[in-house]
Amino acid sequence: MMITVAGLAHRYRRGGDVLFGGLSHVFDAGSVTAVTGASGSGKSTLLYLIGLLLTPSVGVIRFGDRDVSTVSDRVRSQIRAQQIGFVFQDASLDASRPVIDNVLEGALYAGLRRGDAKMRAHRLLADLGVVLRDDHRPGEVSGGQAQRVGLCRALIKDPKVIVADEPTGNLDTDSAAVVIAALRDTADAGATVIIASHDPDVADAAEHVLAL
Ligand code: ADP
Ligand code: MG
Repeated sequence: MMITVAGLAHRYRRGGDVLFGGLSHVFDAGSVTAVTGASGSGKSTLLYLIGLLLTPSVGVIRFGDRDVSTVSDRVRSQIRAQQIGFVFQDASLDASRPVIDNVLEGALYAGLRRGDAKMRAHRLLADLGVVLRDDHRPGEVSGGQAQRVGLCRALIKDPKVIVADEPTGNLDTDSAAVVIAALRDTADAGATVIIASHDPDVADAAEHVLAL
């Protein structure tokens, strides 16, 4: 699904700094776009806007032909659940539940049965080099594992849109390569993949670079 932003600007509070200042850009389906820029340039904010976690102060965001910048909160959550896989920089796992439950949740929304969802979650994790017990808790995984867990949680929904915030930030080179390849494959399968990153290997794997 093609994502268009038009005339986008955002500020967090009245009188605060204006980010983007009227950014217009098209993110193609089936391709990876790397969003680059200095720390504080608004990479994460742009991802939150496209991920429908924030509403832009000014401008429009379209998913295909649909203007998603003005939809109700209910529709917005529905679009997020069904179409967007958001990979947070810090993984943001729910510490009160086993890691595997964090991962398989998205597949339950998509209608998979729990047993099947769990199998699929373990398989996805293993593909990314993370092998876990069913009772593994978020507090028992390393930062690098948590980051890959966050990616699996997004991928398990087979979303049309993947938005990833510095997904290789905590990873050694080998694990980073596996993560980049997984995101690349997802784009090749047709998803719109947008990655905020300083990592030159991410930019190398991307068709497009949007420098903020
Ligand atoms: P980046 O990801 O490129 O480092 P961010 O999008 O995190 O940039 O931040 C862009 C600017 O917005 C920074 O000046 C930051 O301080 C500010 N900012 C980010 N999040 C918030 C927030 N929740 N409230 C107020 N200001 C914020
Ligand atoms: Mg950031």
